[in-house]
Amino acid sequence: MEYSPTSASRRLVTAEILSIGTEITSGETRDTNAGELARSLTGFGVEVLRMAAVPDRREAVEGAFRSALERADLVVSTGGLGPTPDDLTRESIAAVCGETPTIDPDLERWLRGLWDRRGITFPEMNLKQAWRIPSARSLANPNGTAPGWLVERPNGRVIVVLPGPPREMRPMWRDEALPRLIERGFGSERAVRTLRLTGVGESIVAERIGEALLRQVNPEVATYARADAIDVRMSASPRPASGDLPERSANELLDEVEPLVLAAVGGYVWARGDTSWPEAIGSELERHGWTLATRELGTGGSLVTLLGSRPWLVRSEVLAERPRGSGRADAVGETAELRDAAGSEVGLTVSTRMRGGDTAVSVAVATPVRTARRRTVAFLGGELGRSRAALAAVALLLETLRRDD
Ligand code: ATP
Repeated sequence: MEYSPTSASRRLVTAEILSIGTEITSGETRDTNAGELARSLTGFGVEVLRMAAVPDRREAVEGAFRSALERADLVVSTGGLGPTPDDLTRESIAAVCGETPTIDPDLERWLRGLWDRRGITFPEMNLKQAWRIPSARSLANPNGTAPGWLVERPNGRVIVVLPGPPREMRPMWRDEALPRLIERGFGSERAVRTLRLTGVGESIVAERIGEALLRQVNPEVATYARADAIDVRMSASPRPASGDLPERSANELLDEVEPLVLAAVGGYVWARGDTSWPEAIGSELERHGWTLATRELGTGGSLVTLLGSRPWLVRSEVLAERPRGSGRADAVGETAELRDAAGSEVGLTVSTRMRGGDTAVSVAVATPVRTARRRTVAFLGGELGRSRAALAAVALLLETLRRDD
C-alpha cells in the first residue's frame, strides 16, 4: 500500500508481529506471544503478513520495525520493555519515528507509587519504563512495571508495543490495545463460524464437504485437524453487489453455506467455536447437577490430561494394568461400581489394548438414567493411539449426557 500523508484514519487490515528478545532467538524461551496475537488478529479479519523474532540488538530491532512498517498497517511487538540497557524496544521505535523519548510525569508517578507502596526505594534505572515519545499513547499494565505504547504514524500506520511476559501481554492486548484499535477501524468485517467434529478423519470430512465448497473463496470453508477435533471453519467477508447478484453481508453468506456443510458432516459435530471437551462436558454435568468419576487403563493418563482438574471431576484413576481377578467384570458394571464408590452420579471407564499396530478401545458410561458402551479401534498405537482413546471416551460421555433429559 502506498504512502499517503492524509490517511490518518487508515483501516488496519494487515499486520506484522515482532517478538523481541535474545531469549527467543536463542531458543531459551518459546515464543507463544506471536501465535496468540496472530490468532486474535486473524479473528478480527486482519491479515498477518509476517511474524519475526529479533535479538536484543539495537540495529536488529530498529531494522525490524522499519521494514515491518513499510509492509504492514499495524506492527505489534512484545518484549524488550524492561528497565535494563539491553531492553531496546523503546529507543528503537523512537529512532524509527525520529522522536525523542521523555519521562512522562503520570507514568513516573504511577511507577514510583508501585515501590512506595511496598516501602522500597525506587531503583532509578526503572525510570526508563516511564519513557514516552510524543506520538505514543501509553497502555496501562496492571500486572507489571512496563507500560505499553500505541504509536500512530503520520501515514496512518500503527505500532502496538506490549511487554514480553504473557500474563502482562494478554490483558494489555485485550483491555488496552484492542478497544482502541477497534475504535480506529480495525480488520475486515469478517464473520467466522467453526464446527468441531469428532469420530471422523479429516480426509473423510473433506470428501463429504466436497471440492466445490472447499475451493470457494468467499465464503471460505476449510478443515483443520486439531489435537482434540477436526474443525470446519467457515468464514466470509461482505460481498458487494455485482451483476445480478445482490449485496450480501458476511453473516448472510455464512447462513447460506452452513446448511450445506451441516448436511454433509453435521452428524459428527460435538461443539461450535473454540469450545473444549472439558467445557462441553462441564456444562452438561452442571445442567444435570452431576459429578464424574473416571478410570482409565492403558492410556498413560491421557483422559485425565484431556479433562484437567475440574470441580466436577471428583475422582480420576489411572491404572497401568487391570487389577488381578477383575478381568471378567463387564465394563458397564465396573463403571457403575466406580461411580458408586466415588460417590459421583456419572462414571466413565476407558481401557485400551494394542491390536496390530492400532489401539483397541473400550469405553463405558454410567449415569443415573442410562448406560452406554462402545468399542472402537483408534488408528495407530503409542501416544497418538492413547490420546485418541481419550477422545473416544469423552465423545461417548458427551453423547450420553446430551441424551439424558
Ligand atoms: P518486563 O519488563 O515486564 O519483564 P519485557 O517487555 O522487558 O517486560 P522481556 O524482558 O522481553 O519482557 O521478557 C520477559 C519474560 O517474558 C521472558 O523471560 C519470558 O518469560 C517472557 N516472554 C518474553 N517474550 C515472550 C514471547 N514472545 N513469548 C512468550 N514469553 C515471552
